[in-house]
Formats: sequence, C-alpha cells, structure tokens
Amino acid sequence: MAEQLSPSHVQRWVDGFVDTVVEKSDYLTDLDRRSGDGDFGTNMVTALRRSREAMAGAEATAAGTLFQIMSETFLTHSGGTSGPLFGMWFRDFGKVGADAGGFTLAMLDEATRKGWTTVTRLGSASVGDRTMVDAIAPASDALTAAVGAGSGLEEGLRAAASAAREGAEETSELVGRRGRTSYVGASALGIPDPGAVTIALFYRAAQEAVGA
Ligand code: ADP
Ligand code: MG
Repeated sequence: MAEQLSPSHVQRWVDGFVDTVVEKSDYLTDLDRRSGDGDFGTNMVTALRRSREAMAGAEATAAGTLFQIMSETFLTHSGGTSGPLFGMWFRDFGKVGADAGGFTLAMLDEATRKGWTTVTRLGSASVGDRTMVDAIAPASDALTAAVGAGSGLEEGLRAAASAAREGAEETSELVGRRGRTSYVGASALGIPDPGAVTIALFYRAAQEAVGA
C-alpha cells in the first residue's frame, strides 16, 4: 500500500479535483448565488481550465510541481475572493512538496496547517465564520491526529476527507461573518458555503487518488 503520494498520484488527485469541480460548477455557483453573488463556480472553472492547460505542458518531477502551477495560475488568472485564496492555498502544497518525490501524510498535514495559516492571514476568517476555513480546520485537525496516531496514508486521507465534508456540511447552519455571505445573513441558512464544499472535494480527490 502506498505510504506517500507520488507525482503520478498527485496527477490523479489534481485531475480528479479539477474534473469534479468543473462538473459541479453550476451547483457551486448556485450555492454562491443563494449565499453571496453567484460567481464562485465560474471563477473556479476559469482558473482550473487555465491550470489544466498549463499543467499539460509541464513535467511534474517533484510532488509539489502541479500545485505550484495551479497556484501561479490562480494568482494571475482568477477572480473573486476565492481566486487569490485558493492560489495561496495551493502555493503552500507546492512549497511543501517542492523538492520531494512524494507527499507523506506528515507533509500533507504540514501543507494543510500552513495553508490554513495563510488563508487566515489573508482573509482573517475564524472557524465558524462560514468560509472555506470551516472545512480546512477539521481536515487539518484530522490529519494532525492521524499523524500522531501513526495512521497510514489512506486512513489519514479518509479521515481528512470525511472531516472536511462534515465541516462543509455544517456551514449550512452558520450565519456568515466574512465575505459576501455576511451581507445576506440568515437567508443563507440551509445552504453550505461553496468554498468549504470545494475544500471537501479537494480532500476527497486526494483520498480517491490514493485509494483507487
Ligand atoms: P466573492 O465573494 O468575491 O464573490 P467568490 O465567490 O469567488 O468570491 O468566493 C466566495 C468563497 O470565498 C466563499 O465561499 C468562502 O469560502 C471564501 N471566502 C470569502 N471570504 C473569505 C475570507 N475572508 N476568508 C476565507 N475564505 C473566504
Ligand atoms: Mg462570489
């Protein structure tokens, strides 16, 4: 069983993530329409399509290469609040995997914690504000616990994916305090935050890449 995500696992992870978000973009945009302004899916798809083009010509020698490409693409070609935040999120995965032949569970834990810190530094959102942080935080805690318990890669990723999904689902019960969703207040209740749902899809794609 794999104990690290090799560059080809990362390729599967990124491909799976891009395909799922593109496939669900209308749903994600609809979530944003009902809780913000309705551009989330479009913002993501534009940046993901460009990322895919940039990745097609690249040779992914290190574990972090594809995330570096995605980061650069998101930082230069994406709109909305989510574009730069995801750009910086991928940057931390790119940095942690920069000189490595694979991502161990401990490295995924490190990248997630760094990414969480970066997103918080930029957007000042805390847990409970109804943002992507509400999926990042539980995924991060699950990864740290899995590393501490000596769990295998697959088990750790499964825990992270399910914690992120639960965190994303729970945003349905939160009134927004950051970003555009804070303008619509209680009328977004019952609808999950699209950024948090996307983070959950990111970890699900990682789990599927290693479990496949
Ligand atoms: P905009 O609100 O500018 O239209 P998008 O629709 O592209 O931006 O992205 C909205 C998503 O960005 C939300 O679902 C939320 O997860 C995330 N987001 C918004 N503001 C913040 C913030 N301050 N910190 C973290 N994430 C945020
Ligand atoms: Mg929006």
